[in-house]
Amino acid sequence: IFNNIELLPPDSLFNIKQRLANDSRSVKVDLGIGAYRDDTGKPWVLPSVREAEKLIQEDPSYNHEYLGIAGLPTLTQGAARVLLGEDSPALREGRVVSVQSLSGTGALHIAAKFISKFCGDKLIYLSDPTWANHKAIFETQGLKTANYAYWNAASKSLDLEGYLRDIKAAPNGSVFVVHACAHNPTGLDPSKDEWSSILDTLAAKEHIVLFDSAYQGFASGSLDEDAYALRLGLKKLAPVTPVFVCQSFAKNVGMYGERVGCFHLVLPQQDAAVDQKAVASAISSQLARITRSELSNPPAYGAKIVSKILNTPELTAQWYKDMITMSSRIHKMRIALRDHLVKLGTPGNWDHIVGQTGMFSYTGLSPQMVERLEKEHAVYLVNSGRASIAGLNSGNVEYVARAINEVVRH
Ligand code: PMP
Repeated sequence: IFNNIELLPPDSLFNIKQRLANDSRSVKVDLGIGAYRDDTGKPWVLPSVREAEKLIQEDPSYNHEYLGIAGLPTLTQGAARVLLGEDSPALREGRVVSVQSLSGTGALHIAAKFISKFCGDKLIYLSDPTWANHKAIFETQGLKTANYAYWNAASKSLDLEGYLRDIKAAPNGSVFVVHACAHNPTGLDPSKDEWSSILDTLAAKEHIVLFDSAYQGFASGSLDEDAYALRLGLKKLAPVTPVFVCQSFAKNVGMYGERVGCFHLVLPQQDAAVDQKAVASAISSQLARITRSELSNPPAYGAKIVSKILNTPELTAQWYKDMITMSSRIHKMRIALRDHLVKLGTPGNWDHIVGQTGMFSYTGLSPQMVERLEKEHAVYLVNSGRASIAGLNSGNVEYVARAINEVVRH
């Protein structure tokens, strides 16, 4: 019965890892996967994480028991505070329902399941371009996706006019997936003014907004600054429509493989006739059913580490420093790459590399140039031209600039 199953192509991002492993050249550079590397090119275990692990393991009550279905409450509550802010009216008013998820991808999956079950036939609008997995996550749940304008390739800037036009053209009450900060793959976030018009336009159409927050702390180094759009969104949207938030701790805690994340649903401000508590409990029970049928209960180890960091003031302070270490090293690499390209006289303007934010740069290199970078120089990036700046370090940035210079010129 399985003889005619279609062979699918390998995942384009994870396949880079495979090709890199098979590449025997002595100098090779991984600008593919979005994972932080230190200045020696190695994965970095954050000092706050090391300390949290130590404290957890030294605790006499340390064990590997199951968590509850909704996850570790000290994680989900702490995570909601990090996103929404300590003084969040939604938290104070009991309008936030949170569950632990399998990192950001799992949170998006829960959102997709919830939407397909309770939101009718809504179209899911994704930015053009967006993270490669968004479309698959929603479509796997039988939801239809569409694109909204985002990136203006000619000017390497935000197509605000197109963005607003597409928000207005979408059927009222559609779902818009927006990147809370550090847009993947473009590294381009709307300015504060632009966010204000985008969110006003979304609110006027009563669209349901899903904030995908995978890089909080990675764009500016500050959690509060990187939650700006989300918090403004709650002010403008949540009086009327629910807001979904999918939160990943893969990048900002550097625990990619431990799969720590949360899904939060912020309820609108209801009139007094609605029993808010009962609505929240019903939603909570439905979210628990989704988790129970798929993973029974979420993974505990990473959740305990993040919870320890969020709930121990000295570790929280160390984590803030760790995020600065990561975001400032990446920023330094952006400047170094741009400066080398300018020094080499590489045709084109490379300032966008410095202007972009978060882990990635949408370099503007063509698929043919990307292919040559890999074949001729062992510099690996995805064929859209997205480069993970975290893969650069003081030992390889000049080499990469020379390689780019070579493929752009010839
Ligand atoms: N959303 C976006 C925009 C991302 O870039 C990523 C990671 N690349 C995720 C969600 C989910 O990541 P994870 O499942 O590793 O938390």
